[in-house]
Amino acid sequence: MATDVVRPRDLEELAGAVTRAAGHGRSVRARGSGHSFTAVGAAHDVALDLGDWTGITAADLDTGLVTVRAGTTLRTLNAELDRLGLAMTNLGDIDAQTIAGAISTGTHGTGARFGGIATQVAGLELVLADGSVVACSADELPEVFAAGRVALGALGVISTVTLRTEPSFVLAAEERPEPLDEVLEALGENCAGNDHFEFYWFPYGPNALTKRNNRLPAGTEPEPLSRARQFVEYELMENRLFGAVCRLGRRVPKLVRSLNKMSSNVLSERSYRDASHRVFVTNRSVRFVESEYAVPRAALGEVLAELRTRVPRLADPVMFPVEIRVAAADDIWLSTAYQRDSAYIAVHQFTGMPYREYFDLFESIVAEVGGRPHWGKMHTLDAAALRERYPRFDDFVALRTKLDPTGLFANPYLDRVLGRLG
Ligand SMILES: Cc1cc2nc3c(=O)[nH]c(=O)nc-3n(C[C@H](O)[C@H](O)[C@H](O)COP(=O)(O)OP(=O)(O)OC[C@H]3O[C@@H](n4cnc5c(N)ncnc54)[C@H](O)[C@@H]3O)c2cc1C
Repeated sequence: MATDVVRPRDLEELAGAVTRAAGHGRSVRARGSGHSFTAVGAAHDVALDLGDWTGITAADLDTGLVTVRAGTTLRTLNAELDRLGLAMTNLGDIDAQTIAGAISTGTHGTGARFGGIATQVAGLELVLADGSVVACSADELPEVFAAGRVALGALGVISTVTLRTEPSFVLAAEERPEPLDEVLEALGENCAGNDHFEFYWFPYGPNALTKRNNRLPAGTEPEPLSRARQFVEYELMENRLFGAVCRLGRRVPKLVRSLNKMSSNVLSERSYRDASHRVFVTNRSVRFVESEYAVPRAALGEVLAELRTRVPRLADPVMFPVEIRVAAADDIWLSTAYQRDSAYIAVHQFTGMPYREYFDLFESIVAEVGGRPHWGKMHTLDAAALRERYPRFDDFVALRTKLDPTGLFANPYLDRVLGRLG
């Protein structure tokens, strides 16, 4: 727990808080929205709460370049971009994260031709351990830029993020249950033939819930689901009813397999079109724990085949579905998709139910194909294991040692995954 929480209102206060902490030999961490499943953001001495450091500071409607303060949540960002006639190219499932928190852990959505949120970053402004403020981009301090977009808060405090946005667009959404075997047979076509393809697989049921979101030409009018249908299908079925089913499964574990199968059978079909951010983002009120790994896209089939065979044999049953997404290779040193077209496999368990054996099994399967863990989700890897999975790992560590020699921004999670400093 942080002993001091500082809430800077401008860049001077932000840099001042970093310098003061350094002067007193105390560590400092910036806080996002606290939506990571790991202790990546844990602050032990000084926590920087950026809740007063929000909003867009510059927007160029011709180039789409938009600069935003680090503490801005994606929800606020999407609303402000919408008002400007702009949008993010791709987003994850929820919008509660801050922009700095989201990019720092490599938050991503889905789409074989698209990268995670950090790939939409054109520039960063950072406060370094010595209190200096630097800007980086592909042309300015390119190494800091290559490392700094997914940096777990280890290189400095991000003060602003400049994003490459695009004109607002509408997505056509198609969601339906399909036999898992058919989804897997057509996996290549599904990923290549849709802008944003993903699916959920219930481990004891025959069906997957597929989601295909495709970009529509400029000027297409939205046709959202009626408010009543949104309430019934998303709020009642996917949140309240699913939450009640999960609670029942937690109380009576021997029912979990049939409840999970039933959940896979009652999935409904729907299609609608809406502003991109309203399609990407869903409301999630059922609490869960999660681990997610990126694997080479070509290895997805074999990983899923292993999970299908071995998950039903686990002693403790699994209540939540597995989520599968894809992303294009990128050039960010600690990005889970660094230099490889990736498939993301996310395993979840309802809060309060046993998950260790399940997550251990999952980690052992993805280890066989060089899986890379999401930095904000549960995993057990340390620096020695991660070095093997990231070609630029040592370059990242060298840059961190140069920028933060005494470990001002360190915490126990970073000690484990990057190594100790100082
Ligand atoms: C319900 C739910 C759904 C999710 N959906 C997705 C998804 O679809 N895709 C996906 O990839 N992930 C997803 N995640 C994971 C989530 O996106 C990441 O864990 C993300 O980092 C959380 O952002 P945050 O603002 O809460 O950051 P925090 O968890 O608060 O912090 C994350 C890291 O960012 C650092 N940080 C924050 N601000 C700064 C700053 N200004 N400068 C430097 N470092 C900073 C923190 O120190 C910490 O190391 C989900 C999580 C939950 C709980």
